[in-house]
Amino acid sequence: MAVTDHVDLNGFMEGVKKRNPYQPEFVQAVQEVAEDIFDFMQDKEEYHSQQILRRIAEPDRVVSFRVCWEDDNGNIRVQRGWRVQNNNAIGPYKGGIRFHPSVTESVLKFLAFEQTFKNALTGLPMGGGKGGSNFNPKGKSVREIMRFCQSFMTELYRHIGADIDVPAGDIGVGGREIGFMFGQYKRITNNFTGVLTGKGLEWGGSLIRTEATGYGAVYFLANMLATKGEDLTGKTAVISGSGNVATHAAEKIVQLGGKVLTLSDSGGFIHDPDGINQEKIDWVKTHKTHRRGRIEEYVEAFPGATFHAGKTPWGVPCDVALPCATQNELLGEDAKMLVANGCRAVSEGANMPTDLDGVHTFKHHKILYAPGKASNAGGVAVSGLEMSQNSERRSWKEEELQQMLKDIMSGIHNSCIKYGDQGGGYIDYVKGANIAGFKKVADAMLAFGVV
Ligand code: GLU
Repeated sequence: MAVTDHVDLNGFMEGVKKRNPYQPEFVQAVQEVAEDIFDFMQDKEEYHSQQILRRIAEPDRVVSFRVCWEDDNGNIRVQRGWRVQNNNAIGPYKGGIRFHPSVTESVLKFLAFEQTFKNALTGLPMGGGKGGSNFNPKGKSVREIMRFCQSFMTELYRHIGADIDVPAGDIGVGGREIGFMFGQYKRITNNFTGVLTGKGLEWGGSLIRTEATGYGAVYFLANMLATKGEDLTGKTAVISGSGNVATHAAEKIVQLGGKVLTLSDSGGFIHDPDGINQEKIDWVKTHKTHRRGRIEEYVEAFPGATFHAGKTPWGVPCDVALPCATQNELLGEDAKMLVANGCRAVSEGANMPTDLDGVHTFKHHKILYAPGKASNAGGVAVSGLEMSQNSERRSWKEEELQQMLKDIMSGIHNSCIKYGDQGGGYIDYVKGANIAGFKKVADAMLAFGVV
C-alpha cells in the first residue's frame, strides 16, 4: 500500500500535533475543520490519495523576520514579524496583519488556515494568508507606531504584491497603520498598486470596507434567523469587543431593530440595560478608536450602565450573541450559560472566538451558530472588491457595494445550507462552512497535481 493510506481523524490529528509542537491555536483550528472534513471525505478517494487536507494544513511558507525600531526615548526595540502564506490555490494570498502582544507563529498559522476557507467561501478569487507582530500598539505614540509600521514593511515588501499576497488590517491595524505601511511600500518600490486593502478612500480604498465585517456578521445572523421565520426586531444582543467589528455589528443590530446590551475590552464589559443606541455607539467609536480610551469610562458617560471588571459578557441573558473580540474568548462554560439563558443564535465577528468545547456545546444544543469563517467573511469580501476596483482603477458606488456585501453573505449562508443541512430543521453551519470552503480549495489543488 502507498504511504498515502487512510489515517483516521485521530491519527491525522496526532500527526498535526507532532509536527506543530507548542502551537495550540493552530492545532485547534485544524481539528475543528478536520472533524467535518473526515466525514465528508469518506467516499472521496482522490482527496485522501492526494493528501489534500494534509497539504492545506501545511502553510505554503512562513516568513519570520526581525523588526527593529527606535522608541521616543531613543531606545532600540526589537520585535518579531511574520507573514504566513497558507494557500494560494484559488488566488493571491489574502488576509490581515495583526499587531498585538499575544501574536505568535501559532496564532498566525491558525488565522491563515481559517482565512483560506473563509476567503473561498466569499466566492472571490483569494487565497489565505495572515501576518503580524507581537508589537503592542497600546500606549505608543503615533510617531512610534509610524516607525514600527515602516520598519515592518521594509522587510514585508519583498514578500507581497497585488498578484502575490495582499495584506489588510486586523487587531491593532486600522486605516492609520495601513496608511503608514502603504506609504513605505510605495516609497521602497515606487509602485502605486493595490498591494494592501483597507486603504483610505483618497488613495484606492473602498467604501464600506470599514463597516463590512460587523455589518456582514449581522446580515449573516439575520439570514440564520430567517430560516426560523424570525428577524432581529426586538431581540436583545450581547456583543463582546469594542473595536471596528463590534461597533459596526452593534450599529447594524440597532438599524435592524435589535437592542444591544453589552460591549467589552480586555479590562471587562459594560452592561447597558437601556440599550446601546447609535449615539452611544458613536461615543464608543470616538472614545476607543480616536482617543484610545477604555470601555470602563462608558459608565461615566452613560450612568445607567454598569462595568464588570475582568469579566466577559456571556452571563447576560440575551436572544443573540456576537463574539467580536478575539480567539478563545467564549469557552465551553460560557456556551452552556448562553444556551441555558435562552440564547438562540450566535454569529462570530472574531476569528475562532469559541473554543472547541463551546463549538461542541452549540452543536449539541442545535442552536443557530455561525463560525467566524462564514459570518465574519464580509470584511475580507469587501477587501476582495477593493482589489477588483484597484485593478479596474475606479471606485464603485456605496449602494452597489452594500448590495454586493449582502449578496456575498447570503451566498455564504446558502453554501452552509448546501453542505450543513442535517434535516429536521437543523443546519450545522460549522460543517457547512468547512466543507464548502474546503471543497473549492481542494478541487483547485487537485487540478494542479502534486505541487
Ligand atoms: N483581518 C480580516 C479577517 O480576519 C480581514 C482580512 C482582509 O481584509 O484581508 O478576515
